Amino acid sequence: RSAVRFEDVRFGYGDGREILQGLTLDIPAGATVAVVGPSGAGKSTLARLLYRFWDVTGGRITIDGQDIAKVTQTSLRAAIGIVPQDTVLFNDTIGYNIAYGREGAGPDDIANAARGAAIMPFIDRLPDGFDTRVGERGLKLSGGEKQRVAIARTLVKDPPILILDEATSALDSRTEAEILATLEAIEQGRTTIVIAHRLSTIVHADRIVVLDGGRVAEQGTHAELLAMG
Ligand code: ADP
Ligand code: ADP
Repeated sequence: RSAVRFEDVRFGYGDGREILQGLTLDIPAGATVAVVGPSGAGKSTLARLLYRFWDVTGGRITIDGQDIAKVTQTSLRAAIGIVPQDTVLFNDTIGYNIAYGREGAGPDDIANAARGAAIMPFIDRLPDGFDTRVGERGLKLSGGEKQRVAIARTLVKDPPILILDEATSALDSRTEAEILATLEAIEQGRTTIVIAHRLSTIVHADRIVVLDGGRVAEQGTHAELLAMG
């Protein structure tokens, strides 16, 4: 369990525009915080900064009180799992695609991750199981199946911190509901940031943060935000 803090974070992509303008965000260990807001508000940017695809230009981000700028890339990325909206799978086996999430992952790790992602019933029905090739030259997976492989890929490293970046946004509502149930289960005991634009996808969040214009516009529980109107 890790707590994540954004402290007065400023960031721009270098084109003179400031995307985050003093963002402060506190995610207690084990909590699930949803980040919502209009397209372009900086939600994905926030995730990329936590993963250090880019470095903040002001303020700092800490995990358990430690500035992530001082943590090695390897240990940072081992601690954080991202499930993106559009997962790109390799034209390789399902097992390879899951093992990709962690160097040295073995068959037991892959099977455990697949169980966590609730994709075992699907894999068990395939004649070649984990050895089934997927992608352009293999089996074509549905959007939901692809996301479950992505979830397994993330789970294989058992990250204490989880970022779900519009992880179910591309799915139809029924598939979304099924995947959300799986995600809710794996969020237990992890510090989770759920980035979404539909309120229906974040009903289980402990707290909702509304991002607008590079700042936290408001935050609170569902009930508090509804009361604000
Ligand atoms: P959200 O996830 O809330 O839709 P993003 O974090 O993706 O927002 O984007 C915030 C702003 O940053 C947008 O105006 C977007 O155009 C801009 N942006 C995102 N990625 C880049 C990039 N690589 N280079 C320059 N601008 C970017
Ligand atoms: P590691 O150093 O742990 O190998 P990687 O950068 O290879 O970290 O990524 C680990 C996992 O996170 C992979 O499953 C990769 O697909 C996923 N990932 C990395 N960056 C992103 C991103 N921007 N959006 C979504 N998923 C990502």
